[in-house]
Amino acid sequence: MEKVRSCRQCGTCCRAGGPALHVEDMPLLKEGVLQLNDLCTFRAGELVRDTSDGLIVPLPAEIVKIAPSSGARPDDWACRFLTGDNRCFIHGSKPAECQALFCEDPSALLSMQDHERLDRLGILQGLDAPAWLAESVESHESRCSYARLAELAENMDSDGEARRAFLETVEYDRQFRGLVAEKGRVRPEMLDFLFGRPLLKTIIMFGIDARRNADGSTTLVQMATMPHSGGRS
Ligand code: SF4
Repeated sequence: MEKVRSCRQCGTCCRAGGPALHVEDMPLLKEGVLQLNDLCTFRAGELVRDTSDGLIVPLPAEIVKIAPSSGARPDDWACRFLTGDNRCFIHGSKPAECQALFCEDPSALLSMQDHERLDRLGILQGLDAPAWLAESVESHESRCSYARLAELAENMDSDGEARRAFLETVEYDRQFRGLVAEKGRVRPEMLDFLFGRPLLKTIIMFGIDARRNADGSTTLVQMATMPHSGGRS
């Protein structure tokens, strides 16, 4: 008799990162199973590990994922709903990718990769969020897109203007978040959903580190080796 294969609940998949959300997960947001501060956006152009072949690739379009626990180490991508005994805290309401995921046969999950993923504007619209939130997302994206940063990073060595513009963008991202949190009374935990991860953390993907100085200014430091970003797509 053929043995029925089932999840051994070892937690390995959930420790590799939370799921990206799809349109069928919208009810979980509307019902409050998932809240905006549970989410993290990986913006278009950000480097992630491709689930299908493990290669580090730039995202062709943004994805919104369940974030790691707040305060997790930078290299700890475990889904925030994974409990200490390897169970899913929202087991009865798992997102679509988690329902499809089975490590011994990832075909169902892989077939979903380009299937109607939710993005920030779709989520805000689905939740009838105030219009200014969507406007903030669009305004931040137009100034801080990874496409623009990649172009500036490529020319930084030979072009002082590109270096200055890169640094200005990193600073703009930092200040914009602070402003939205303060003036818009947005909880700081929601900022990684609204504007993606802070550039101070992600520009390492360009081989550049940003160091904050005691006087509040920021210095860009070229790294000797090219590190990679994390998180699975
Ligand atoms: S939502 Fe549950 S099943 Fe899905 S990755 Fe998180 S802990 Fe695992």
